[in-house]
Amino acid sequence: MALVSLTNVTKTYPAAERGGAPVVAVDDVSLDIEPGDVYGIIGYSGAGKSTLVRLVNALEPATSGRITVDGRDLTEMPERELRGIRLGIGMIFQQFNLFGSKTVWDNIAYPLRVAGASRAEIAARVAELLEFVGLADKARNFPDQLSGGQKQRVGIARALATSPRLLLADEATSALDPETTQEVLALLKRVNREFGVTIIVITHEMDVIQSIATKVAVMDGGRVIEHGDVFEVFSSP
Ligand code: ADP
Ligand code: ADP
Repeated sequence: MALVSLTNVTKTYPAAERGGAPVVAVDDVSLDIEPGDVYGIIGYSGAGKSTLVRLVNALEPATSGRITVDGRDLTEMPERELRGIRLGIGMIFQQFNLFGSKTVWDNIAYPLRVAGASRAEIAARVAELLEFVGLADKARNFPDQLSGGQKQRVGIARALATSPRLLLADEATSALDPETTQEVLALLKRVNREFGVTIIVITHEMDVIQSIATKVAVMDGGRVIEHGDVFEVFSSP
């Protein structure tokens, strides 16, 4: 069974002003993302990628169509259950979105505190994650004392804190130089291989898809214009 399934999903934003036209941000998209996939979604700015992420993460409702996560239909789900779905999805962002006034340790501990984990559980899990992302010596530092690559590694550790099955990476390497990008992508590959986490990688960069994704959907004007194995999609004329 697909971990994430979209069937004829459309998201229309109302016209911003009188006389303006509504924006069809996602237009009749159908996609299946299987457990263990590293699934790339590529397209130019405005193609509808971020909207797609917000739909999968249940931050916005679809206008029409059906979205399931782990076989559970989001379209009919009450808000309380949607919150549960969101807790099961990790997210990392282009601008990292770390809490600037919290230490690295506290940034990673945050989702565990929200989830109500015990002190002992939090201490053990944060230590394990710091080790995994190679930042054990930065536990007491603040985000502005870290490089971009280190910040994103904290972002990854925080996203994994509650052991989600699905990780959404929204332009997660777009603020990084090419070398640091490769480091972060290598870490994401380990997240996929060692923990079996399914990863959706949203990007406008072909290199990123070719480095990490096994499958890809190409978006343009809200539509998926092509999808399949990375090798097949990018080798077709
Ligand atoms: P991408 O992530 O590929 O850059 P987006 O999903 O952000 O694309 O945007 C797709 C289209 O939807 C764009 O035309 C954008 O202007 C529009 N859009 C995105 N969010 C909103 C919103 N909250 N209200 C109105 N229009 C939006
Ligand atoms: P409290 O919940 O009262 O804040 P904690 O025992 O959770 O007490 O930890 C206090 C603070 O000490 C944490 O917020 C964190 O910043 C820091 N801290 C705790 N354990 C570690 C650790 N192993 N490495 C670095 N900092 C830590």
